[in-house]
Amino acid sequence: LAERLQETFRKLKGKGRLTEADVDEAMKEVRRALLGADVNFQVVKNFIARVKERAVGQDVLGSLTPAQQVIKIVRDELAGLMGGTQSKLNLASKPPTIVMMVGLHGAGKTTTAAKLANVLRKQGRRPLLVAGDVYRPAAIKQLQVLGQQLDIPVFAMGDGQSPVDIARASVEHAIGTGRDLLIIDTAGRLQIDEEMMAELEAIKRTVHPHEILLVVDAMTGQVAVNVAETFNQRLGLDGVVLTKLDGDTRGGAALSVKAVTGCPIKFVGVGEKLDALEPFHPDRMADRILGMGDVLTLIEKAQASFDAEQVARLNQKIKSAEFTLEDFLEQLQEVKKLGPLQQVISMIPGLSSMKKLKELGDVDDKELVYVEAIIKSMTPWERAHPHEINGSRRRRIARGSGTSVQKVNSVLKQFEQTRKMMKQFAEVGRGAKKGGRIP
Ligand code: GDP
Ligand code: MG
Repeated sequence: LAERLQETFRKLKGKGRLTEADVDEAMKEVRRALLGADVNFQVVKNFIARVKERAVGQDVLGSLTPAQQVIKIVRDELAGLMGGTQSKLNLASKPPTIVMMVGLHGAGKTTTAAKLANVLRKQGRRPLLVAGDVYRPAAIKQLQVLGQQLDIPVFAMGDGQSPVDIARASVEHAIGTGRDLLIIDTAGRLQIDEEMMAELEAIKRTVHPHEILLVVDAMTGQVAVNVAETFNQRLGLDGVVLTKLDGDTRGGAALSVKAVTGCPIKFVGVGEKLDALEPFHPDRMADRILGMGDVLTLIEKAQASFDAEQVARLNQKIKSAEFTLEDFLEQLQEVKKLGPLQQVISMIPGLSSMKKLKELGDVDDKELVYVEAIIKSMTPWERAHPHEINGSRRRRIARGSGTSVQKVNSVLKQFEQTRKMMKQFAEVGRGAKKGGRIP
């Protein structure tokens, strides 16, 4: 999915002006890509209609090119489709909070119960895991082993007890032992069946969970969405956990669950290990699908902190290859405002893999203090002629800045790398001007 959408947007970015036909063509591709990724048909249809409406109305953002604007709309709508903002667990106003895990066989309920207990413990809760799957022979043992690995208590009762009794007893046990959060694992079936639903309803009636979480396997695509719809109709879900996202290349379930069922995805499982559970962020997922790193965040941040005039001046200098050490310093300071360098670089797709940038990224923020001292110890002539700073000058600069010759050498080397890179950028930027690419 990501690949196809990126290809579509690459074509779109190749155009300076966008006609309605361009947008139509791009939307056709997006539509095909979404359907190909197993996104629900109705969801796709509504999605495309909304994007087109907004693209034609153009919520104009002066800083973006037309192509970027369309991409931003697609990105916002994708995030909206998945719920817009992050949805959190319902917590009881009066503890203990009761979370009930439901779902089909093999979806990942038991594993996720343990992962979730781990996450919530890190947030200061005192979880109790409850072994409510009495049908699968090894299910109780499985939860006990996971509990042991995490050092989280597991409540279990002997064979032949009903899940409803276990659930009831576990709440008393939690209160008695000062646990403020119960996570009840339940039995699944291969398919939705009446017996399972009736049992889950009985548990629900008995303990009144604050949160009923459905666990579904992302790799099953639309099947996961249908399962979610059925469970929601019978039980009323509070949220969905999408597991095995690490193996899901299409992303159809992630995109359709919320739109079809109205239930937000609250967590995603991204591996078999016990720390592989993450809160679900619709906006980040949208970025990931579009392969944009966090471009828009970066654009927004950059706008907030770069002084436009300064940038224009810098661009001019880069183009005329007059980029000096003074500019280098100024620029490092600007970049620093954006956040830690490594993070800034990781937000730029494509660039994060460039070796040279990695080296630049290694300039950590403390280093900037040295860089500044070193550059300030140079004479204006030296700043403008870095290539002519010889050994004795280097020694003087090192003394003047209270650093070492090695440090001076490394700053000069970094400067040289940056200058080369900026030149490449400027060239890309020029070539792209026609194409309106993000430089
Ligand atoms: P249950 O029948 O719903 O309780 O499912 P289990 O918790 O027993 O999980 C079934 C299998 O899925 C196990 O082998 C888990 O390790 C695996 N699993 C669960 N969540 C994830 C995930 O997010 N990623 C991957 N790769 N495997 C997972
Ligand atoms: Mg299980």
